[in-house]
Amino acid sequence: MLSYTPNPERVVAAAIRQCRSSKGADVIYKELTDEDIKRLIRLCIKMGHLSPIEHASFTFLIEGISRVTSHQLVRHRIASYSQQSHRVVDLKNADFIIPPSIASNAEARKIFEEIVGYARRGYVKLVKMGVPREDARYIIPQAVETSIVVTMNARELLHFFNLRLARDAQWEIREMAKLMLKEVFKVAPTIFEEFKKYLES
Ligand SMILES: Cc1cc2nc3c(=O)[nH]c(=O)nc-3n(C[C@H](O)[C@H](O)[C@H](O)COP(=O)(O)OP(=O)(O)OC[C@H]3O[C@@H](n4cnc5c(N)ncnc54)[C@H](O)[C@@H]3O)c2cc1C
Repeated sequence: MLSYTPNPERVVAAAIRQCRSSKGADVIYKELTDEDIKRLIRLCIKMGHLSPIEHASFTFLIEGISRVTSHQLVRHRIASYSQQSHRVVDLKNADFIIPPSIASNAEARKIFEEIVGYARRGYVKLVKMGVPREDARYIIPQAVETSIVVTMNARELLHFFNLRLARDAQWEIREMAKLMLKEVFKVAPTIFEEFKKYLES
């Protein structure tokens, strides 16, 4: 995690209480006890009164994921993204993510590595011929590694974790979501407590 709203749960709880208080959120922010914060956040999530949860935002640097996974990630629209550009960055030494089902099977791994090697050599040749990188990249497999900076607010993260920690999500985005959860859980354990079981498994 690169950055996050300072005291995210206190900010969220102050926003919740301010909805039904004559006091300003600045005063409430200072007065709230740790117990108040937990209780207010739990109540708010239980009621489905989720807009105050949006006041806490989290920014992640995600590295070492495939383009397959970054594509799945950016389908989540309530977020901000800055992705490494393969129009600009040279892919001749790029790394590729090998799914465990392929890595654990010698024959499958051989096929994967042959195709990736072939594509990489083709890319290098095209660039040497004067083809721009932005066009040469069309022959690069989706397994190619990428990096991306992502900002999501806590409400969107709750939704994202619901979908992407679930069993039917793909292994790579599940692993990534679990690492993101591990980070946010350190600073906002009450907001994300429904997902605690994923950190224990
Ligand atoms: C297991 C799995 C399989 C999938 N398979 C496919 C697939 O085969 N093909 C495919 O194309 N996609 C697939 N997806 C992607 C999926 O359809 C969503 O695009 C992705 O999960 C983003 O979720 P979202 O749209 O709910 O949420 P976000 O974009 O994160 O938005 C959050 C919420 O905001 C609201 N919202 C956002 N934008 C709008 C809008 N324009 N109008 C109304 N409400 C809005 C919705 O309530 C939405 O749930 C799959 C996802 C999963 C988890």
